Amino acid sequence: MTAQAARRRLGVVGWPVAHSRSPAMHNAALAHVGLTAWRYQLLPIPPTVIEQTLCALPDAGFAGVNVTIPHKQAALAAATEHTERAAAIGAANTLVYREDGAIVADNTDAPALTETLAVLPSPVASPRSALVLGAGGSARAALWALRDAGVADLAIWNRTAERAAALAAEFDALALTEAEAARPVELLVNCTAVELHGADPFAELPVTAAQLARCGALADYAYGPGETRLVAVARRAGVPVVDGLELLVAQGALAFERFTGRAAPRAVMRAAARP
Ligand code: NDP
Repeated sequence: MTAQAARRRLGVVGWPVAHSRSPAMHNAALAHVGLTAWRYQLLPIPPTVIEQTLCALPDAGFAGVNVTIPHKQAALAAATEHTERAAAIGAANTLVYREDGAIVADNTDAPALTETLAVLPSPVASPRSALVLGAGGSARAALWALRDAGVADLAIWNRTAERAAALAAEFDALALTEAEAARPVELLVNCTAVELHGADPFAELPVTAAQLARCGALADYAYGPGETRLVAVARRAGVPVVDGLELLVAQGALAFERFTGRAAPRAVMRAAARP
């Protein structure tokens, strides 16, 4: 058996990564399409050894990996080829280990936002303005996706203001102060890791429950065992929501298709992702 033939391993690389629903979602999809010898696993890798680990995984039988917090920029750097989208975003969440030795980077977090927003009720499915909270990997993907979808007015707020300013310059967006960001908007996109770290978004972000209730729609990249607090408050107020698990399924389905060449069974993935 050649090393290529043995490439049936997939995984999600992150630090931390124990919270990820990707193994449940992808293993259900692999079984559903009959790839029974394939396995998808958690890969907790610290930043100090990320690049050499990403480059070593093909020899350990990996056909590809998803990449999550905080390694998306390192993943792009480790790739030998990348899609235009991943390069423009400056971060990769999907690496495909091709049989010729190439490591191909893509970013499926961006089309995931476009896809999931498109199923919201009109007119919030095609907003003219949006506020992105955060300045990390998912914020880069969200800003690119919203710009690509033709959202005219893009604003960004981040706890570390310098990072927001740098991203605003890159994506032709407006960097807001905390006071400026604290208002209802057409589309609010949470790209911060506040709830991942167990903190209260209403204490750490420039958002109150009353403002959120008056937003046109909420997209929340964060997800946990249950609803995030932002999602719970928005849903209670009747605000249309794209939650983190819906975004996870959308980005995961696109990655699955790149890894395996098979159509992703989205309903199976959705059922497996929701705990
Ligand atoms: P990064 O580490 O790249 O960025 C984290 C961001 O969160 C930074 O802007 C950081 O601000 C901000 N942040 C962290 N803690 C706080 C806090 N206490 N108060 C205010 N801001 C804070 O992470 P990602 O962009 O990769 O991921 C962000 C979230 O989105 C995570 O929860 C992740 O799991 C989730 N995610 C989900 C996906 C999905 O498919 N559903 C896909 C991608 C991400 P600062 O710059 O000041 O440090």
